[in-house]
Amino acid sequence: MSASTSPSSHASGSSPSNKRKRTGDDLSNDNAEASNSSSKVKIVQSRTLWLPDGNIIVRASSRATHPTRTFHMYKVHKFILAMHCAAFAALFEGPQMPFEDASEKHDGVPVMDLPDSPHDVGNFLKALYFPQTQLHAHISNPFVEGVFFVFHDSYSGILRLAVKYDASRIRDLVKDVLVMEWPSRIEDWDALQDTLSKEEAERETVAPLYPNPGRAIRLGTDCNVPEVLPCAFYDLTRIFDHFYPNCENGPETRRMDTSALRPDELRQLLRGRAAMRGWLLQNLEDVEAPSTNECDSHSYTIESWIQARRAEDTFSSDPLKWLRDTIGECDDLPLDTLCGNCSEFLKGHLYYLRWTLWVMLPAFFKLKNIVAAGWGEEE
Ligand SMILES: [Zn+2]
Repeated sequence: MSASTSPSSHASGSSPSNKRKRTGDDLSNDNAEASNSSSKVKIVQSRTLWLPDGNIIVRASSRATHPTRTFHMYKVHKFILAMHCAAFAALFEGPQMPFEDASEKHDGVPVMDLPDSPHDVGNFLKALYFPQTQLHAHISNPFVEGVFFVFHDSYSGILRLAVKYDASRIRDLVKDVLVMEWPSRIEDWDALQDTLSKEEAERETVAPLYPNPGRAIRLGTDCNVPEVLPCAFYDLTRIFDHFYPNCENGPETRRMDTSALRPDELRQLLRGRAAMRGWLLQNLEDVEAPSTNECDSHSYTIESWIQARRAEDTFSSDPLKWLRDTIGECDDLPLDTLCGNCSEFLKGHLYYLRWTLWVMLPAFFKLKNIVAAGWGEEE
C-alpha cells in the first residue's frame, strides 16, 4: 500500500468549488464524492458501492504518473467477494484476525488495495452487485442491437479481473460475449457483417460502430480466449488497408489502432496479411474448369473474368467480402459468357476458396498452436 494520505481525513473539509471535474478514471455511473482536491491525492468514495454493513473496503488507485493520484474506495462484503472469486475465498477463509491486524483501517473497516485500474475494479464490483445491468450491456443496450462495439469499455475490466481473481462463472459469461463478437464460424461472421452494414447505412460515421480488433487481441491473449484471435487479426488487416467495407462517403473512418499490440503481434499481423494474400492469389491463378467438363472453351473466360474483378478494392483489403460478392455475381453471369456448367463450377470453387481461407486464418496468423484444432470448421 502506498497511499500517502490517511483515508480518514477525506470528505469533511472540501467545499463544492474545490471539487475537481471528474476524470475518465472516475466511475461513470457513480455519484461519487471527491475531496482533498487541493492536494496531489484525491479520494473518491463510491456512492453506489458504499454499503452500510460492508466489512471490507476495496481500494484502487489511478496511475502514479497522473498529475493527481486518485484513490477509489468501495465498501463491500467479504462474503460476496469470496462467493464469486476463489482467490478471495482463499484469502478470507480461516481466522480473520491476522488479516484484520495487518490491514490499514478506514472507520474501523479493513482496507484491501487492489493493483488494478479503478475503472476495471469499479466495473468488476458492479458486475458482482448489479449483474442485471453490468453483465447484460450487450443485450440491454438499444444503441445497436446485437453489435458489441461497447465491449471494451463495459466488459474488458470484468473479464480481466474475473480471470485474475478466479471468478469462473463471471469469466465464462463475459467470455461468451467476446466470442460472439469475434466468431469462429464463417456464418456468424457474415451475420455480424450484415448487421454492421445495416447499422452503418443508417449512420454518417462508422467510428463508434465497429469493435476494436487490437484490443480484442490483447484481451483474448491475456485472458486465455484464443478462439477470438483469428477473426480479430483478420479484422485488423481490413483496417490496415484503410478500407471500410460499406461506408461509401462517410467522413469518418475506422482507425488503425495497434496500441494494444506487442511487437511480435504486429509482426504476426503483417506476416499473416501477406500469407493470406499470397495464398488467395495462388489459388485464383490455379482456377481452371475441369477437363472432363463438356465445355472446353470457358477456362480462359473464367480466368479473365476473375482477373478483371481482382482490380476491386475489396480483393486485397477484405478478401472474405470480395469472395462473397463474387460468388453472388456468378448467378448473374449471362449465359453467353459462361455456360451453366462452368458457372456452377466457378461458384463452387470460389465457395470452397472462401471457406478454406476462413479455416486457414489460424495458419496465416501463426495461431495454430494456441487455438483448438478444427477452428472455423463445423462442429
Ligand atoms: Zn463452359
